[in-house]
Amino acid sequence: MSKKIEGIAASDGIGIAKAYLLVDPDLSFEKHSVSDVNAEVQRIHGSFDASIAELKQIQARAKSSLGDEEVAVFDAHIAMLSDPDMIKQIEDEIKNDKVNAEQALTDVTTNFAETLAAMKDNKYMQERAADVKDVAKRALSHLLGKELPNLASINSPVIIVAHEITPSDTSQMNKKYIKGMITDMGGRTSHSAIMSRTLEIPAVVGSETATSEISNGDQLILDGLNGVAIVAPSQEEVNDYEQKAKHFAAQRVEWAKLVDAPSVSKDGKEFEIAANIGTPADMDDVHKAGADAVGLFRTEFLYMDSDALPTEDQQFNAYKTVAESMNGKPVVIRTMDIGGDKPLPYLPLPEEMNPFLGYRAIRISLDRQNIFRTQLRALIRASKYGQIRIMFPMIATLDEFRKAKKVFMEEKQNLQKDDPKIGDNIKLGIMIEIPAAAIFADQFAKEVDFFSIGTNDLIQYSFAADRGNDAVSYLYQPLNPALLRLIKHVIDSAHAEGKIAAMCGEMAGDQRALPLLLGMGLDEYSMSASSILRSRSQMRDLTTGECAAIVDEVLAKCQTADEVEKLVNERLGNE
Ligand code: PEP
Ligand code: MG
Repeated sequence: MSKKIEGIAASDGIGIAKAYLLVDPDLSFEKHSVSDVNAEVQRIHGSFDASIAELKQIQARAKSSLGDEEVAVFDAHIAMLSDPDMIKQIEDEIKNDKVNAEQALTDVTTNFAETLAAMKDNKYMQERAADVKDVAKRALSHLLGKELPNLASINSPVIIVAHEITPSDTSQMNKKYIKGMITDMGGRTSHSAIMSRTLEIPAVVGSETATSEISNGDQLILDGLNGVAIVAPSQEEVNDYEQKAKHFAAQRVEWAKLVDAPSVSKDGKEFEIAANIGTPADMDDVHKAGADAVGLFRTEFLYMDSDALPTEDQQFNAYKTVAESMNGKPVVIRTMDIGGDKPLPYLPLPEEMNPFLGYRAIRISLDRQNIFRTQLRALIRASKYGQIRIMFPMIATLDEFRKAKKVFMEEKQNLQKDDPKIGDNIKLGIMIEIPAAAIFADQFAKEVDFFSIGTNDLIQYSFAADRGNDAVSYLYQPLNPALLRLIKHVIDSAHAEGKIAAMCGEMAGDQRALPLLLGMGLDEYSMSASSILRSRSQMRDLTTGECAAIVDEVLAKCQTADEVEKLVNERLGNE
């Protein structure tokens, strides 16, 4: 009998394949004394040799699918397994203490890793500590005769089943074989979810039980459209989902035809469907999706992918590349949103009890103005190459916006000494992601050029529910009438002052929300590039007047998110 596992629909699409459990086997062991130390030393050598052979094999397979940098990691691991100093220390412990190979391996490698991790100012060495642990785990798995999962070695279609998927996991994946992903942890706005959409891999997150209910090799159907996985499906279910997958693939082909089409409603009103990006490398996907704009450039990735603060010129080049590549279409660049869940190893920040409510984003920028000024100068200089708009994250009060604007004006005036009009066409906007700013939008609208509603944080703060904590993910309710009221107030406030209202949180690409946002008159919808064509297609079937009437009815009658969803579906004649 098949079994259903429910989670959060995180990335569209349907996958059917065998499960690949990305979970480490139990590598626990007992310490014991040995009489034949030579045999134990031989076991260590055997496990190191087997590990090296395995790594070489993985590396050879990975060469065709991964970049040089990812493949180089394996060289570093092989070198560690040949380190005479480490091997000698393990041999000495076995001989002197007469302990089993597992124990000596663990003691010595733990020691090595701790020494490296203690080099606080040396990020490179700290990362090597993680490598030592990885290598030790591999050797231990050979000593215990248990196989480790290995993403880079996957060479047939699978669905990844994991507790959580990290960026380093994704860097090892060959997209060709990954037909889907399901995780125990995470919500729709968690890292795994955003990443799966970028990679266009169907995904279900926050299932809580996937890794305990699914075994390696189980046949699986993964439905990323509805947030369900079916374990050991019947032939009938497989047939049914194959049809659904075909239908989805056909839809994709239809959507792809809209790549050069305008983003218009059925009654001919024009809107902007924009892309969220993290680095200039994302621009390929943006063009493939035919985005009308870049609605959010999360610049913190420039800071996170580097060993030191990026220089003005490094930043200038990144912003210029994106601006030029959009060829005059708007590019909204957000100043760095560091802190919270995005730490910087080279910028030590105080430990905080509540990092999401702490020292982050604009709060850091206004406090450490040298960092902020460098970024603003790079942005103003890059504005010569396209239509750059600057957006400040995590604005809570008007004072913060005024201070940020003042710093911007000072830097602009400095640069204008050499280049009189530089930066004059830059629009300044704010993220609306803190409830205080949303409530006070009518006043903000008098001073800013545009709003972009960051629903990932606005929902987390409005419902007091950590966006990464799956225990409270039920409170991620984009359709909750309380939130809809708040959003409508923000959009109306922008329009009352003739300003642009955009949204760049994940809600902007949510099919259930689009009719409501269109009905409220949201001007710009910024989302993962992979959602753009679907949204454009959906928009072309909706009439603004009809959607506005649905909004009025929803706000007058509905009390829960479920009621909202039901009413919208009824009015639009969806099933
Ligand atoms: C948001 O909060 O909705 C947003 C777009 O920003 P981020 O996801 O980077 O916090
Ligand atoms: Mg945010």
